[in-house]
Amino acid sequence: MVKFKTGDKIKILAGKDKGREGEVEKVFPKVFSLLVPGVNIYKKHVKGMPGKKGGIYEIPRPLSFSKVGLICPKCKKVTRVGFKLMDLEKIRVCRKCKREIDGKGTSKK
Ligand SMILES: [Zn+2]
Repeated sequence: MVKFKTGDKIKILAGKDKGREGEVEKVFPKVFSLLVPGVNIYKKHVKGMPGKKGGIYEIPRPLSFSKVGLICPKCKKVTRVGFKLMDLEKIRVCRKCKREIDGKGTSKK
């Protein structure tokens, strides 16, 4: 079960971009990392070649899951993700406010 999904709001908890917030653009579950636009940029110097412009390219590198925290859409706090089983489906819950992160099953109770 993956803790993060595309479109999640996250906060960087470690590294040079610590404290910054962003939205998950892509998740790489197999390597436990995710891509956030504009965060964890590294600059790559590329030599000019025929057909390719040289210069400095800014490439965002995926961040490890361990370096980011999910911002709960319900309580707006940085939280760890928990899971619970609902209707035979595992859903993500906020460890702080205990509410469902993905909005399923929140309406009636
Ligand atoms: Zn919450």
